[in-house]
Amino acid sequence: MQNRIYNFSAGPAILPEEVLLEAQENLFSLPGVGMSVLEISHRSKHYDAIHQAAKADLKELLSIPDNYEILFLQSGASMQFSMVPLNLMPPVNKADYIITGTWSKKALKEAKRVGTINVAASTESENFNRIPSQEELKLDPEAAYVHFTSNNTIFGTEWANEPNVGNVPLVCDASSDMLHKKIDITKYGLIYGGAQKNMGPSGLVVVIIRKDLLERSSDSLHTMLNYKIHAENDSLYNTCNVFGIYIFGLVCKWLKKLGGLDAMYAINKNKAKLLYDCFDNSGGYFKGHALPDSRSLMNITFRLPSEELEKKLIAEATKAGFDGLKGHRSVGGLRASVYNAFPTKGVEELVSFLNQFKAQNG
Ligand SMILES: *Cc1c(COP(=O)(O)O)cnc(C)c1O
Repeated sequence: MQNRIYNFSAGPAILPEEVLLEAQENLFSLPGVGMSVLEISHRSKHYDAIHQAAKADLKELLSIPDNYEILFLQSGASMQFSMVPLNLMPPVNKADYIITGTWSKKALKEAKRVGTINVAASTESENFNRIPSQEELKLDPEAAYVHFTSNNTIFGTEWANEPNVGNVPLVCDASSDMLHKKIDITKYGLIYGGAQKNMGPSGLVVVIIRKDLLERSSDSLHTMLNYKIHAENDSLYNTCNVFGIYIFGLVCKWLKKLGGLDAMYAINKNKAKLLYDCFDNSGGYFKGHALPDSRSLMNITFRLPSEELEKKLIAEATKAGFDGLKGHRSVGGLRASVYNAFPTKGVEELVSFLNQFKAQNG
């Protein structure tokens, strides 16, 4: 096997090696099928087995109750920024949005085209370095739903627990932390995520929606924008992303083999702790962007004493085989994305590298 470098990219991001190897082994011809998964019909019985297994494994991993529908859609999480309000906002035509970063703002922008939006809270004035507290949320009990972003990929903050929104359906963009731990699906009306950060390749969006909310989808909506029609057709109204769903299914199997989402969460907490401990013990040399109670387990954002040192570190890290550490321009500094598939060994090696860099450039 060719050597692989440590890929800290925020997305598309690292996939489990076992998944890549299995896909590689079977790419030319799926066992018992004699065709590549890239060649089979989405209406074939071979594909149906892949589709149903992926749904069943996701259902098992998250203990999704029977009154929820799993949809495999396309056009990225960004399309959900439009589909959520188009389907769920009428007839009330107002919704609450909690703004914790760039992606929440993009979701807000689309929702405003559909109805009246109440920004229930925003931490923008603090450059999104924290998650708002429950007390800060100014929720409208009459809202059609409350939208929040569980993990802020760019800023490196994450909700430790869901906001409490009473009886109003909770809608979540979990694109960068879906499946990083077990969550209680019954708290959600709808949760969605683009697969390319923590669950699979790009081009697939996983949507889990409570079935009663499907009744909100109006017949006047365009077919491809209508959750109810996608649900009635088991996400096969049109040609689905066959390869994306296949890889997503392999990722679910990998998670199950690992011991499920509680086991995954323990690994994720440990990986993040290794890096945050390194910052906290660096005498202020490495400074996390997120406030301690809002720290993300997936995207770890940090700064060095100067931009010059940051550039130097990134250059030396790249040479040493640590790729994708440059932070997003709106935060600056560095970002280590350590999604489910990122190995603990890689985080340990990065921590040694950071400590060594500090010793030489402190
Ligand atoms: C990456 C990302 C998106 C956008 O995903 P696309 O699939 O590119 O549309 C939306 N929300 C969050 C939280 C993200 O991290």
